[in-house]
Amino acid sequence: MSHDAVPVGEATLLQQACDKYQSSFGRAAVAASSAPGRVNLIGEHVDYCEGYVLPVAIPFVTVVVGGYNDTDECHVISVLANGDVVSTAFPATSVAKLTPGEPAWANYVKGTVSKFPKPVQGFNMAITSDVPMGAGLSSSASLEVAVCTFLEVLTGLTVDPVEKARLCQSAEHEFPGVPCGVMDQYIVSMAKKDTALLIDCRSFGSTHVPMKTGDYVVLVTNSNVKHKLTGSEYPQRRAQCEEAASRLGLPSLRSAKTADLERLKQMNCDELVLRRAQHVIEEIERTQQVAKSFRENDLERVGRLFYESHESMSKLMEISCPELDELVRIIRPAPGVLGARMTGGGFGGCVVTLVKKDQVDNLKKLILSKYRGDPVFFVCQPSDGAKGIKL
Ligand code: ADP
Ligand code: MG
Repeated sequence: MSHDAVPVGEATLLQQACDKYQSSFGRAAVAASSAPGRVNLIGEHVDYCEGYVLPVAIPFVTVVVGGYNDTDECHVISVLANGDVVSTAFPATSVAKLTPGEPAWANYVKGTVSKFPKPVQGFNMAITSDVPMGAGLSSSASLEVAVCTFLEVLTGLTVDPVEKARLCQSAEHEFPGVPCGVMDQYIVSMAKKDTALLIDCRSFGSTHVPMKTGDYVVLVTNSNVKHKLTGSEYPQRRAQCEEAASRLGLPSLRSAKTADLERLKQMNCDELVLRRAQHVIEEIERTQQVAKSFRENDLERVGRLFYESHESMSKLMEISCPELDELVRIIRPAPGVLGARMTGGGFGGCVVTLVKKDQVDNLKKLILSKYRGDPVFFVCQPSDGAKGIKL
């Protein structure tokens, strides 16, 4: 079995979506869009604290094609990576208000259609994607932003890219019911090839950071584990961070300084709340330092900050898991490696490693020989964000 994730490519996914549309609906698609997945280089669990994050878009995309069907119903089919086809139908927003429901996956589509700033008449839609689902690479934001961009092409109404990110975020809050930060939708909407995006989650401003990594690349290792948890872990972390901010009398932990940790201690603040606050305050600083170090070509410093970040996620935020810790332990002493950290919401998903290009193959071999799981690799080429596609 291959351990390399190879993108199918937008052109092939577009052809597959158009073919599926034609065979399912008996006509040709007239509007199309694509949107990538993403990987976060650093800045974990800080977007909902109004901090800084530094994600890049990856060359795996969701493609959406379709057209009006002259009815009051919307029909949506999605071809999954394993070839399975799922479908759903719901009323057009020109005639009804949408509500969340079953099937669960359809909520990402319905939520986005519902939040689109203009009522939409009945349409048919076919979706293809090579963004791995549930791997922490944000297939959900990729789907939402691809759907929103499709609606822009279909209706002729352009939505500002930052507005689009917020619209898709609120769709994810209200339909699937995931209280996510804005990072995923923002990078998927705004990404630019060969750059990472330093996003200020307080002002909603951002700056493109050129990824001139010379002899080095970012290798993504998917641990291929996703621990089934109670589902309360993410909201709990969020609530703990909000508690810390509120005890400090601050709107969010973005405004907190390291000295505030001492203040929290003096207030006899809960030990867990204190640890979460320490992670967030330091991670926001690390993220800005990583962006600066990329600009200054100081990759060794980027690597050191990656390790610090991982340690903090593992010990202070407690969002790592044995497999992710094991991967970082295996990767750390390998030749050519400058740094590694888990990325994404946690409890599984991927590790990002800054490693010398000519050592990538050796590193993959080392991981395959030592890691207990079944990893999948890809080298991260920072890619473009969502776009409409001319058919
Ligand atoms: P991640 O965003 O990290 O991939 P999430 O759990 O947030 O993981 O989102 C994954 C969910 O999004 C899937 O379980 C499915 O419901 C939905 N989804 C994502 N992409 C697609 C797609 N192409 N077709 C249908 N559903 C999708
Ligand atoms: Mg998601």
